[in-house]
Order: sequence, then C-alpha cells, then structure tokens
Amino acid sequence: MAQVKKAAKYVYYFGGGKADGNESMKNLLGGKGANLAEMAGHPKLKLPVPPGFTLTTEVCTAYYNNKKKYPVVLDAQVKKALAAVEKEMGKKFGDVNNPLLVSVRSGARKSMPGMMETVLDIGLNEKTIEGVIKQSGDARFAYDAYRRLIMMYADVVMEKAGGIEPKGGKGIRKVLDEKLEKIKHKQGYKFDTDLTVNELKALVKDFKATVLKVLGKPFPDDPYEQLWGSIGAVFSSWMGKRACEYRRIEKIPDEWGTAVNVQAMVFGNMGDTSATGVAFTRNPGNGENKFYGEYLLNAQGEDVVAGIRTPAPVNEYSKNDQSKHLPTLEKTMPAAYKQLFDIQKRLEKHYKDMQDIEFTIEKGVLFMLQCRVGKRNGVAAVRMASDMYNEKLIDAKTAIMRVQPNQLVELLLPMLDPKIQAATKPIAKGLPAGPGGAKGRVVFSSNDAVEWASRGEKVILVREETSPEDVDGMHKSQAILTTKGGMTSHAALVARGWGKCCIVGCADIEIHSETKSFKANDGTYIKEGDWLSLDGTKGLVYLGSMALVDIDLDKNMAYKNLMKLVNKTRTLKVRTNAETPEDAAHAMKFGAEGIGLFRTEHMFYGEGSEQPLFLLRKMIMSKTEPERRKALNDLFVFVKKDIKDTMEVMKGYPVTIRLLDPPLHEFVPHDVSKLQALSKELGISMSMLRRRVLALHENNPMLGHRGVRLGVSYPEITEMQVRAIFEATAELAKAGKTAFPEIMVPVTCTENELIHQKIIVDRVYKEVCESKKMKKIPYLYGTMIEIPRAAIKADKMAEIADFFSFGTNDLTQMSFGFSRDDVGGFLPKYMDLKVLHDDPFQTIDQDGVGELVKMGTDRGRKTKPNLKVGICGEHGGDAESVKFFHRVGMNYVSCSPFRVPIALLAAAHAAIESGKGK
Ligand code: PEP
Ligand code: MG
Repeated sequence: MAQVKKAAKYVYYFGGGKADGNESMKNLLGGKGANLAEMAGHPKLKLPVPPGFTLTTEVCTAYYNNKKKYPVVLDAQVKKALAAVEKEMGKKFGDVNNPLLVSVRSGARKSMPGMMETVLDIGLNEKTIEGVIKQSGDARFAYDAYRRLIMMYADVVMEKAGGIEPKGGKGIRKVLDEKLEKIKHKQGYKFDTDLTVNELKALVKDFKATVLKVLGKPFPDDPYEQLWGSIGAVFSSWMGKRACEYRRIEKIPDEWGTAVNVQAMVFGNMGDTSATGVAFTRNPGNGENKFYGEYLLNAQGEDVVAGIRTPAPVNEYSKNDQSKHLPTLEKTMPAAYKQLFDIQKRLEKHYKDMQDIEFTIEKGVLFMLQCRVGKRNGVAAVRMASDMYNEKLIDAKTAIMRVQPNQLVELLLPMLDPKIQAATKPIAKGLPAGPGGAKGRVVFSSNDAVEWASRGEKVILVREETSPEDVDGMHKSQAILTTKGGMTSHAALVARGWGKCCIVGCADIEIHSETKSFKANDGTYIKEGDWLSLDGTKGLVYLGSMALVDIDLDKNMAYKNLMKLVNKTRTLKVRTNAETPEDAAHAMKFGAEGIGLFRTEHMFYGEGSEQPLFLLRKMIMSKTEPERRKALNDLFVFVKKDIKDTMEVMKGYPVTIRLLDPPLHEFVPHDVSKLQALSKELGISMSMLRRRVLALHENNPMLGHRGVRLGVSYPEITEMQVRAIFEATAELAKAGKTAFPEIMVPVTCTENELIHQKIIVDRVYKEVCESKKMKKIPYLYGTMIEIPRAAIKADKMAEIADFFSFGTNDLTQMSFGFSRDDVGGFLPKYMDLKVLHDDPFQTIDQDGVGELVKMGTDRGRKTKPNLKVGICGEHGGDAESVKFFHRVGMNYVSCSPFRVPIALLAAAHAAIESGKGK
C-alpha cells in the first residue's frame, strides 16, 4: 500500500502559554520566531506574548528555489494558525464588528537590524475600522493606524516588493509623509498625535488616491490580500539590495533565508497609558550589570528604533543628557515597570546572557514583543563575560566563548589624547554609542563616505539619523555622528555591532544638507572636508584633528580576569613579531611569550637607520670579500646592539632572529647625493658605482637573490650576524641576564642550504665561546618554511633544523602564484565575484596553503618528534587562522604586538572548540 507522506510543517504557532517551537530552532524559525516561541511556551517563562505564528525559513528557500511560488500546503497551515490566534485573542481577522489586526515581520537566523521589512496594522479597511473604533473607543487612534498601514504597505509591498522605481528618486513613503507634514505645518502641530480624527480621515482618503495615482494600483481592502502581500514582501526583502549588502559585510550566507512572523497587534499608541520600548538586561555600552532601556509614551512599534522622537529612560540609571528631563517608566507606570523588571531578570537567568527586549504596554497591560541576545561592543562583552563568570551564571569556557577575538581590538582602541582633550572645549555633546576615539574629515552622505574612503581619506559620517541604506558608508567611516536618535537607534545598534566609534542624538548641532555643512550651538561652523575628533566613550565632539593615544589595559580588571581564564585554557603559545625593545615590551605587556620573528633588516628602515644603512650600502656595493668584510665589521656593532637590547627586554623568552632576507637591491640608493657619498667612501667613480647598481637589478626580486641565497653567495654576511647573536647572548649571560636566541634561516628550499649555513654557525659558535670564555651559549638553529618545496621536503629539512617557522606570507604568495605586492590589482574583483571567499593573505587558505603547513609539520615531526613548530606570517594574528594552526598542532603563533590579545583569545577558543582546553 502506498504510504501517505506527511506534509512538511511550514507554520509554527505560539501564544497563550503554548508554542510549537522553541529557542533551539533558530535555523528554522529565525531568531525572532524561535525566541517568541520560547518566551510564550517555555514552562519557566510563559510570558505575555501576543499570539502569532512563524512561517519557517524553509518557506523562503522553497520560494526562491521554486520560481517564487509557495509550497501548496502553506495556505491551509496559515489558515489553521490564524484561527488559533483568533481564538486566543477572541477576535476575528477581517471581521467587521470585532476585527483582529496583525503585524508581519521578518526574522532571519542572525539579526539584521532594520535590513528587512515590517508591515503593521494589517486587516484594517473601510469596514473593519468601525470594529476597531468600537473595540478601542478611540476613532483618532483607529484612523492613525489606518494611515500607517497604507503608508507602510504602499512602500514595502506595492513599491519596493513590486519593483517600482520611484519617480525622481522620491519613494511613495516620502510622498505620503510630506502630506502628513504639510497638515502639521499648516495647523502648527508638533507631533503626529496632534492631528484630529477628521484630519486623519481626510488624510487616509488622500493617501489612497495618491497610492492609486503614483503606483497605478489601488491599496487593497481585502485583509487576506494585505496579509499575503506583506508575507511576500518580507520574503522579497531578503534579496533586496541593502539586505544583500549587509549579509556581504557580515558574511551571512544567502541560502539561510528569512522566516516571517505574523502576530496579533498590540498597541502602544492607545493614549497615555500605552507605551512601547526597547531595553537591555545589562548596559550594552559598557557592560555594567544594570537594567537599561528607553521608551516612548503613546507610540507604535518602530518609533523607538527609528530615532524620530527622543525616547525617555525606563529608570534613573538609563537617563542621559538628552533624556534626563523626561519622566521614567518607573515613575509613570510603576506596576508595568515592576513587571518588566521582573521579566527581564527571569529572561537573563533563563538565557544566561544579556537580552535585548522589545515591549509594548497597551492601556497599562505589558506585552513582550521580542527578546534576543543583545549586541554589545567589545568593552561591554569583556565586562559581561567576566561579571557573569564571577556571578556563577556561566562557566569559564562560556565566558571565554562569549567574547569574539576581534572584539578585543576595541579594548585596544586608541582614545583621544587625554591631555589635549582636557585642554580643549568640545563643540557639542551627544550620546556615547560606540567607544574609543576617532578623527576624520566630515562627510554628509553614505555615498560620499564610500567615495572619500576609496581615495584613502579618513572620514566621519555626519547624519541626522542613519537608515539601513547607509550601512556601506557607515562601514567605511572612522566614526558616525548623528543628531537624532537614542542609544537604541539604527546608528547606535549597527555601530555597536561593529565596535565603531559612534555618537548619536547630538542635538547640539544642526545639519544643513543643501550646503553640506553643520552649525554647532556654540556657533562653530563646519563644512564638508573639515576635521573633527570624536570621543565615543563620553559622547564629545571636538573641532580639528586631535592626537590619539593607546589605552592602558592594566587598568581593565574585567579584561585581566578574562585573560586569566584564557591563559588557563589555551595550549597554543603566542609570540610576537618585533624588532625593537619598545615593541617587544609592548607585546610582553599584552602577554606575548617570546619573539617569533625578529626581522634584522628592520634596522635599515626609518628613524635612526641613516648610519647602519650607509654601512649596509657600502657592503652591498663592495666588489671584493675584503671590502665587504670591512663594511660588515663596521655594521656588526649596530646589529649586535639591536639584537642585545631586544633580547634583554624579553628576559629569557625565546627570540627568533631571522638572518637578512630582502634582496640587496632594495637598499640601493637612487638619489645622486647619496650615490656620490658612497662612491667617495668606496673610492670608486660614479660610473663604476652605477654599473654595480645596475648589476644588482633583478626582474623578479621576490624570487631572486634574497634570503639564504645571500648567505650562500656571501657567507661573511651570515658570519657577521651569527657572531652578533652569539656575542649579544654571551654578554647578557655574563651580566647575569638570560637570553635565548633562535637563529632562523629564511627562504630555504633544500636541506643543503641549511647544511651550508650550519657550518658557518658552528665555526662562529666555537670562536665566540672561546673568546667569551663560555662553555656553552644557549641557542637553536632552524628555518622558515615559506617555499612549497621546503614544506614537501620537510622531513629532510628537519634533519638539520631544530625548529620550523612557517612564513605563510611567502608560502601563500608562492602557492597561489599571487605576487604579495601586486595582488591589489585583481583580488578585490576575485572577492566580489566570489572566485575567492577570503583574502588568502589575511586568513590562511586552509585547503591549499594550509595543507602544505600540515604536511610540513607532520613530515618534520616524523624526522624529529619534538620539532618546535610555529608560524610568523601575518596569519598569526588572524583569529580563524590561529584556530587552524592549533588544530595542526603547532607550538606557537607569532603576530604583531597589537594582535597578541586576539591570538591569545583565539587560541583559547580553538582549545575549547577542539575539546582540548586545559
Ligand atoms: C613570511 O613570508 O611569512 C614572513 C614572515 O616573512 P616576510 O613577510 O618578512 O617575507
Ligand atoms: Mg618571507
């Protein structure tokens, strides 16, 4: 007998203390749907959630896979769920006497603030409005809801989802909004709520006529047409431009799809005993364990997030400069506040994490509309993880996993130089929505921000408020400054997610977009391109470009607490790439456990390099060995001092010193005066010198005479460096200090190169031991693995080397055949077209280059089981790559000093993820 296949379940109901789904079903129900189900149905919660149902993300994927058609069973499942909502609410959808109104909202797996569409008050028409007036006893309210529905529906469903290009760039929402503003202006009204019933009635009529005229179709009066139109629009918005753009930045796959939530409407705009708000169980700005939130009296849903009116604080703690005169919810509605306070405590205890909640109070009755894990900046993330661990709400592993390695960047963020700041008067003050300091040149539109940034300019985006259309420009800006909106406005939410410096609600300035300028209350006039400096931690705006300074992590107790847990958990060591005592000291403070790469050539670049560089050039231009030896002798003093000073700071931690790597011609001077000085010093003519310069020219220097090849051609160069290393170590030892150098040979491809150099090392070692009267000088001899052949022949290389350090910069270059220096010419296109998903120079290409790393490690260890293996390419500071190196079984990663905390945390994440945490 044929089996009847059970139809897939596409619709999940929640409400009245019951729910088909729960919090664990985020992939299917989206974040919003899963949490609504959890809040409504979990036995320990059963919170007052307006009933509703969720159309799953599978409907979305099926819709796009099936030429924008829904599964056939969907209609019946929606009807059934709607009937359950009607029963729970005691109202009927489309009923003339007692109508049910619903909202339709998107809800992806991962929150995408404001990226997709929402339609409210669905079910209203010329007939049902009478029922709503009867239910509410408030005709003004009913007509206000009606005009909102027409506005949203015309914009979201008819224009955007209908694919209609607005005429002259002015969308229908704006056209309708201007009509509303015109009445307000004419009557001298300040707020939308000032409009009378008759004015609203006339407006609704006008709106409908305008929609028909502008969009060529009437606004639909059939509630079911409204419902399905809205559902379709939400699914379409998943593939909308701004949603796609946001997903690209946040790396959210297109295939995830969005769910759609249909929910009974409750109203925060039913007069002065109604309100709507957004709150956090802890302060998302600094992590403090205090209930924090904002609300608007007599307002509907999106008004708080839109940032149009200044929201009031829910309690004393949430007051800020803009809202301190406004009454708190705690005072205006003490009973509802108490219930909300109690619910937020229960929610945090239940989810064991900070929750971001949306609520509505309808005529004094509280409803929960949403809860989700709250976005927080890096500073707050560290504070919350550390506090929650101390409060025994979470264990050490959870605390560590709560902070993303890259979030630590914010704790290391520079801030405005406090000395200069103290002596400077701010021109304006706003709300501190994203911490740290920033400076840049003012631009007034997202497009300008993108364009200026592409020219290499640092910009600050100044707007009245931001909208999802602005994300690209916001992303490219150093900081964001808005004149409207509160701590929960779009700008604040997005900046917080990215850890970007941001000030919102800065009412002290007035923007004149037509002249691309703004004026501050103190009279300061700023135009496009002028410099501003922002203190996002305090919300202060300064004129001009102020110096930025680094912050002192030692004073951050939460960070120290978290790092203690990190260090107990991780098994991978973290070193730093540093060549100066200052950088080395910095890295040690951050927790570095050695230097993984000391690039000797560093001393020939930048400040203080004049003299050693001159000597190096002399050596390069020498023709004979004695000439070269003489120049090397003079250079020796500088090299030894450089190495010794840095090793001293490292207090016995291993210091991997790499022998000279770059092709010599890189150091050859081009300006005439420098050439003349050299020809004089060497006693040769300018034409002879020029011939020698020419002889050094290479067509492909990156694959040319560099690295160990220099040491093979000119053994005296190796000899000088090795002597400097051994003498520096011996002298430190004699002074009662410990030092542990690891001599590293770069750019090797065969063990014979290592053998060749080792003979020099052994000879010099003996000489220095004798001259310094030391029995032993501690050191290791090893090589970089940065040529694919070296990785393949790693078993042979390990016969000579005590350690390997993977040079993943060169290894990536040579594996892909992409020139490190020229990759900018085509890589952006590759990424755009998704030919490559990540920049392989930033995140290790695990499948290709990573395979070489793995093979090299395994083969090396086959020869020498205790072979020390590390990595010193740029990937050592990239969190994803660090995790990979942990899995490969490396001993350490090495990265620039400021990436050390990130690598430490990534190493702990890797240990936990692979179940090997200590
Ligand atoms: C490397 O190639 O990964 C490396 C660390 O060396 P450099 O970047 O100096 O070539
Ligand atoms: Mg290299």
